[in-house]
Amino acid sequence: MAVSIDLKPQENRAALAERAVMSAPAFPAQPLDEKPSLIGLSREELGEALASVGVEKRQIKMRVAQLWHWLYVRGVADFAQMANVSKDLREKLSSAFTIARPEIVTEQVSVDGTRKWVLRFSPKGAGRPVEIETVYIPEEGRGTLCVSSQVGCTLTCTFCHTGTQRLVRNLTADEIVGQVLLARDRLGDFPDAATPAGAIVPSEGRLVTNVVMMGMGEPLYNFDAVKAALAVVSDGEGLALSKRRITLSTSGVVPMIAKAGEEMGVMLAISLHAVNDTLRDELVPINKKYPLKALLDACRSYPGLSNARRITFEYVMLKGVNDSLEDARQLVQVLRGIPAKINLIPFNPWPGSAYECSDWDQIERFADHVNQAGYASPIRTPRGRDIFAACGQLKSESERMRKKDRDSLEAARVTELAAG
Ligand code: SAH
Ligand code: SF4
Repeated sequence: MAVSIDLKPQENRAALAERAVMSAPAFPAQPLDEKPSLIGLSREELGEALASVGVEKRQIKMRVAQLWHWLYVRGVADFAQMANVSKDLREKLSSAFTIARPEIVTEQVSVDGTRKWVLRFSPKGAGRPVEIETVYIPEEGRGTLCVSSQVGCTLTCTFCHTGTQRLVRNLTADEIVGQVLLARDRLGDFPDAATPAGAIVPSEGRLVTNVVMMGMGEPLYNFDAVKAALAVVSDGEGLALSKRRITLSTSGVVPMIAKAGEEMGVMLAISLHAVNDTLRDELVPINKKYPLKALLDACRSYPGLSNARRITFEYVMLKGVNDSLEDARQLVQVLRGIPAKINLIPFNPWPGSAYECSDWDQIERFADHVNQAGYASPIRTPRGRDIFAACGQLKSESERMRKKDRDSLEAARVTELAAG
């Protein structure tokens, strides 16, 4: 994930890596809690959870409001801190449910202030714990959190590191919201303990001001969990992030685009990357299923679209592949009639990737052409390259862990056979 303008010439990654800070998590590694989580539930579901531990019907609404405040305004991760909830109820809740944060495997801080967390979640059917990555990008006047929606991805975009990892499983709503809570915790972005219970805490001055679903995975292939999570993240009495500050990025799952607009109402970004079907079929293979025309038609009818609410088209700059001025001309043509912003993303290389980033001069020429046609087309500065946190560089260890598992199983079998 990468944000902001002013691209500097390619930095020397090795030098950057030397300066990168790798810090051990200050959080004690907590054992993965298998109890159901109260994070990410709707108010109604939270009410059902309270009823299940014996809270009387007439008290449910009040208790839900209290819990909501503790969880999402104050950001507490321990029932014991819920000062205005009776000890008896706190104990009942903590024996049946968890509100623990995801386990931090590593926390890395880039020389440019970008932070990346590798987070571990319980298996939930995947066989063993899974790992994903979450990235925080601080900028002048804003801070963007890049959130993952899946462990791996079913899609295989050829320039994307996540695309080389097969899908291990979808994340659940609590795991998606958990990434936001954890980032705010680690950044000290929740009000301190001295804030009175129930107080209204203004959203100004926060460190996490924006959320982008641009981490690992295709969010529209995990629709229900992403929808539930974003409803919690945008809830005005909790985390209270405006829907205009939440962006969902899709590679082009056409049948889900209108539904996302209607049911989630967040800002939309499309990973376009090519302006003809032949090339897009190769770079973004979902294009074979939902070709450009269908994708652009879905964009044209995206609910709530206006000049004030534009769709962002992401375009990764691949040297000699999609970066000619003819491509720029066609880009302007195919987007005609769609209120759009174009983000030019310098390709972020990863070990084994088959592409090169376009030359800086060529990116500028491309951007000039698109600008002259009237589109804002910022070139995104790659952020956190030294800690492999930039757009498309996220890839978790989960698959490798599984392979290791398979290998040790295999070894055990061989030993058994040899012994038998
Ligand atoms: N699956 C979703 C969201 C995650 S990817 C999607 O594809 O939209 C977030 C953005 O990073 C997408 O635009 C993706 O195409 C881009 N990206 C992937 N790999 C990249 C790389 N190596 N360099 C630059 N951008 C990349
Ligand atoms: Fe999946 Fe998006 Fe990467 Fe494509 S670009 S492989 S859809 S994460």
